[in-house]
This record gives sequence, structure tokens and C-alpha cells, in this order.
Amino acid sequence: MRALRKTRPAAGAELAEVPVPTPGPGEVLIGVEAASICGTDLHIYGWNDWAAKRIGPARLPYTFGHELAGRVVAAGPGVRHPEPGEFVAAETHLFCGHCGLCRTGKPHICQNMKILGVDVDGAFADFVLLPAHNAWVVDPRIPPAEASIMEPFGNAVHTAFPSGADPELTTSTVAILGCGPIGLFAVGVARAAGARTVIAVEPNEFRRGLAKEMGADRLVDPAQEDPVAAVLEATEGLGAEVVMEMSGVPTVIDQGTRMLQHGGRLSLLGLPDGPVSLDLTDQVIFKEARVFGVTGRELFRSWQQTTTLLATGMVDVRPVITGRFPLERFEEAFDAAGSGRSGKIVLSIGAG
Ligand code: ZN
Repeated sequence: MRALRKTRPAAGAELAEVPVPTPGPGEVLIGVEAASICGTDLHIYGWNDWAAKRIGPARLPYTFGHELAGRVVAAGPGVRHPEPGEFVAAETHLFCGHCGLCRTGKPHICQNMKILGVDVDGAFADFVLLPAHNAWVVDPRIPPAEASIMEPFGNAVHTAFPSGADPELTTSTVAILGCGPIGLFAVGVARAAGARTVIAVEPNEFRRGLAKEMGADRLVDPAQEDPVAAVLEATEGLGAEVVMEMSGVPTVIDQGTRMLQHGGRLSLLGLPDGPVSLDLTDQVIFKEARVFGVTGRELFRSWQQTTTLLATGMVDVRPVITGRFPLERFEEAFDAAGSGRSGKIVLSIGAG
């Protein structure tokens, strides 16, 4: 089969021929139809400091990519669900199933987590192995060509609706800081959830345009206006009830606390490179702000919510999918994904 491999600890990747893997106990083999490019894949492709440290040269060569949809073609011993022929998307966080968190209903924060396409061979290939319990059968109302984005869409859903979320999105002013693909999905989710006003903050003009298409009411270019002032102005000086931080930029996280209403909720998805300085006294403690760290998707609540939002048409993700390339044109695909003039880029691999 074809597989897009990291073969050297340097920028780039190589399309290689490798054997089709055989599913072991509890695993399914999926014929990949579509796989989309995540920011993580850009880091791995470019082999930046994070990739060099997190993956390292000892793991090479290996196949990367993790956002995928495809058809189950074979099941290993002991697998009862899903069955060969079923069309699935992949939960890419490979939880152990036996740690304390897995056993108490929180496998998304498993203490032994591995990640598809980072710790094990991934999805930029004709076939990929997946634990059967990580396969999510895709609702037939969701077009197969859009199903590979269920995984990052689920990140947006988890950021929007973490367990215990208070305040809720409905009737709230919601500020979304950073409109990469997950931020753009979050704009659509907030709109669908009945937010009063959705304010999207994004320096990139192209992406502000996508945020508008996804339903943002107010677009803020932080190079032109102060996002905190813009949110306060839109809320009669009160601030936003919900802020979703998608950028990971320390100054933006600080702004997120300052634009938050008393009793508001700050959901943090973006990953800063290092420690961040915040005014906890005035902007978090005296406000009784609720700060939620968000990782992955709640299993499998976020997938159920994602299915509802996409299958019923409550959110239309088509504006965010700005490019499709066959696997052999991966270089163009990665250039597009890293260009800043893109939303989500999808690699078409098999029938997809
Ligand atoms: Zn676990």
C-alpha cells in the first residue's frame, strides 16, 4: 500500500510502498478514503522543535496523519463492532482502557494516552489500523467526503460544550479567539447553539472571511482594534459570557481573561509553547471565572454531539474545507495547509 512516511528528522515526507498491516486482537483495518491535515501534521511535516522532541528520530520511519474516515475492511480476533463494510471516522486518542480515568468514564484524559499518527502509524496511507473501540460509525446523512473532519470538529464541540459548562452558549455573547479550522468550526457550533452574538477575533483576513461564512456576527482584526475593547463595546461593558481560546498565544489568552464577564467561562484549547502570565486576581478570581482546559473529545459524548450538528445540517462545514488533493499531491496539500489562505485541507486517498 501507499503510505506517506517521515523517513528523516527534517522537513518533508516520502510517499512509500509498505505492507498492508494485519489487524491484531481488538483492532480493525480501515481502508482510508479521506484524511485531513491537522496543525499537528504541519508540525510533523515541517519537523519543528515540537516534532523533534515529541516524536524524535528513533521512531522514524513512520506514517503520520490522524484525521480520517474510511471503510472497515477487516477485523481482528474478538472484534464484534464495527463490522467489515461499515464506514467509520476515527477517534484518534488511543486510550488504555484500564487506568483509573478510563475506568471512571474519562478515557479522553487517560493517563497512558497514545495518539494515532504520532505514537503509532497513522492515516496518510491506503490502510490504517485502529482499535475497534476507537471507530465511530458515521451517520449516513454526513457526506463521506466531510467525515474526516469529525475529529477536529469534535475538538470544537468539546471546547463549546465541556461537561459542567457554565455559562452555556445559548443566549450568551461568545468570543472565539483564533479562527484556524477548529476556531471556524466553533463559530458554527456557537451559532447553531443559539449564541446571542458570536465575535470572531482573527488577524488573517482570509480566515476572517471564513468566520463570516460560518456565522460570526462581528469580526475583529486585532491588528486594527483592541479585541478586549471590541467585546466590551458589544456587551454594554459587561464582557462575554463565554470565551473560546483557540490560538495558544500568551497575549491572546490574557486578553481572553480581560474580555470575560464576571462568572464567565474561558475554554482553553490553543496550546502555548511555555508558561503564560495572567492577572489571576482581577481577571479570574474576583470574577469567579470558570477556566476549562480542553483536550481531545469527550468519549463519546462529543462524537454524539458532532453527529447531531453535522447530520441535521445545524452546522455546514463546507466553507471550512478549502482544498482537496489526492495523496500523491501531498506537497501541494501541505503547502496549501500552511499558507494561511486555507481552512481545512483534505487528502483524498481511496474511494473518497
Ligand atoms: Zn487509560
